[in-house]
Amino acid sequence: MIDVAIRFDDPSATSDHALERAILHIMALHGVCATFAVIPHAGQHALSADDVPHLVEARQSGRLEIAQHGFSHESSRPAASRPAEFAGLDHAAQTDRIIAGRTVLERAFGVAIPGFVPPFNAFDHVTAAVLSEQGFLYLSAGSEYGSLECARLAELPRTCHITELRRAVSEARRRPHGDLAIVAVMHHYNLQESGAPNAPIRLQDLSELLQWLRQQPDVRLNTLSQLAARYNARTWYKAVRRNRWVKQQHWRIRSVFPRYSLMPHALFRYIRLAGAPT
Ligand SMILES: [Zn+2]
Repeated sequence: MIDVAIRFDDPSATSDHALERAILHIMALHGVCATFAVIPHAGQHALSADDVPHLVEARQSGRLEIAQHGFSHESSRPAASRPAEFAGLDHAAQTDRIIAGRTVLERAFGVAIPGFVPPFNAFDHVTAAVLSEQGFLYLSAGSEYGSLECARLAELPRTCHITELRRAVSEARRRPHGDLAIVAVMHHYNLQESGAPNAPIRLQDLSELLQWLRQQPDVRLNTLSQLAARYNARTWYKAVRRNRWVKQQHWRIRSVFPRYSLMPHALFRYIRLAGAPT
């Protein structure tokens, strides 16, 4: 089975709501439920249900899951070469921002928020510890970030961009590694209708992609919390560690492993033969 989760980053009080409505319409058309990583604060303004009625309605209809996308999506170290809202802050500061952001989203949507997506995909071991202490189920960042040792939290990094999802599924079929998991990330700027220059796909392409996904008998669509719950945090930790190991290998070894998926349920013997961590 190929487990796929789609994560849509950056909806907020001030994001492009017309585009989000069009995306939600396409999701409804094809019966797809995705995880929207929503920003709790736009500047000084805390998100309320009135700011995002389209998201509230879609959530109530079971068409999306809400994840917490940081606090205000502003870098706490603007002078640094890599922006980060959380990484580098101390435990108390990270705790305050994470709890404050989650409270805003829980009030706006009237549900518990199970997952956290750090802005700029930047987090550190303190972020992971705080999320674990606060009872979050998963953390989902970018592919370049490392695994969380011994946390109770499932790490579900991005394994591809939405534009690579078809390729990721085809590749998963060609690799005999047991069950695989794909986390595909989407942003407004991926869509030409956002007005972003060089956007690679149109809403029509997204619609065809979701329709195609639904027609694949070996693909199971998940929200990120459904995906997190398929295995325990330790299994996800090992899957992420395995992918990191693969990335460091010679291309001949890399070529036998999937590039766009995690291997939570990798066939033990196959992995051992290649010398990967089990
Ligand atoms: Zn973002």
